[in-house]
Amino acid sequence: MKIQSQSPETLCVHAGTFFSEEDGGINSPIFPSTAFRYDQNAAVPYARYLNVPNQEAVTQKVAALEGTETALVLSSGMAAISGAIMGLVKQGEHIVFQDSLYGGTQYFITEILDQFGVAYTLVNQHNVEGFHAAIQENTKLIYIETPSNPLLEIIDIEAIVTLAKEHGILSMIDNTFTSPINQQPAHWGIDVVIHSATKYLGGHSDLMAGIIASREELIQKIKPVAINFGACLDARVCYLLERSLKTLALRIKQHNQNAMEVAEFLMAHPKVEAVYYPGLATHPNHALAKKQMNGFGGMLSFEIQGEYEDVHHFFGRLQMIDRAVSLGGVETITCSPRETSHGKISPEARQKLGIRDTLIRLSVGIEDAKDIIADLERALT
Ligand SMILES: *Cc1c(COP(=O)(O)O)cnc(C)c1O
Repeated sequence: MKIQSQSPETLCVHAGTFFSEEDGGINSPIFPSTAFRYDQNAAVPYARYLNVPNQEAVTQKVAALEGTETALVLSSGMAAISGAIMGLVKQGEHIVFQDSLYGGTQYFITEILDQFGVAYTLVNQHNVEGFHAAIQENTKLIYIETPSNPLLEIIDIEAIVTLAKEHGILSMIDNTFTSPINQQPAHWGIDVVIHSATKYLGGHSDLMAGIIASREELIQKIKPVAINFGACLDARVCYLLERSLKTLALRIKQHNQNAMEVAEFLMAHPKVEAVYYPGLATHPNHALAKKQMNGFGGMLSFEIQGEYEDVHHFFGRLQMIDRAVSLGGVETITCSPRETSHGKISPEARQKLGIRDTLIRLSVGIEDAKDIIADLERALT
């Protein structure tokens, strides 16, 4: 299907869909074959080669939404992150990345890439000066995540792109927290956009996948690594992901609206000491968030009065909201970053990152905001 529209709502529904002449169905059929008849003059389709129809349906849809030339779909967010970095960075080169990163990414760069002779610098001052100061002669890549986890700090995408271009360095972003509905980093010139599609793109807490969206030239460098690491996504899961993506714009609209209402409720609550949500006018980077985001997303965190124990009392009194890891699903879930994403680091390191024991993270779902707020109210009282 040829789609004229640039509207994300329309692209979510129609981009990438392919039709089977035989059955006349209006959805992409699922092609589970791993053995394909071949033609000696054409590329052989094979799921691990990342070239089967159900993978292409997903990648065309996401590339349309991100505004990139092309994309790859892999079996997890970490497969996308490790594949993209390994495809673009070589031994002897250096990466600059912020110190507040998804735990798996941090582990990959500091513990695994290190074994392959790739150096890195962690930046703790998240403005252009901070990133600039970390650039070395051999820096190949600047890697960011905005909004950051779990404090929802906003990094200036346009400024990072300008800095990277001035130094001939590639830029990469983990766009998981926003989805392409709320933020299109390629629009600002970011070279590579990554997603853990396990989160908002899948959206129902029932599939794992990862996306790398970029221009053809860079995808061609990443592809051989991704193919030979073997983290491909099965046709059946591709279909589930394609199906989920059709409602992405609709879901994100509701996540945005609910999170805003929840953030305002928390702000006004006497038992809450701080709320971290870029949609609030009191957020230190609110103006920047407004500039680079179309919506402020479904993720927020807040600190409650009291001590670590009180976090457990809070969790214990919740009735609808589950204490669970992961994020981006239709259901509201909550966790303590001290116990999950930042559970393995020392109390001193947590303090340095500004992650207090009384911090609670919320992935706000698409239920009726009234019910989410009522549950929070009950647990806070
Ligand atoms: C979950 C997550 C990842 C890793 O994704 P998986 O699908 O679990 O491999 C990477 N980045 C962010 C921001 C995430 O939330």
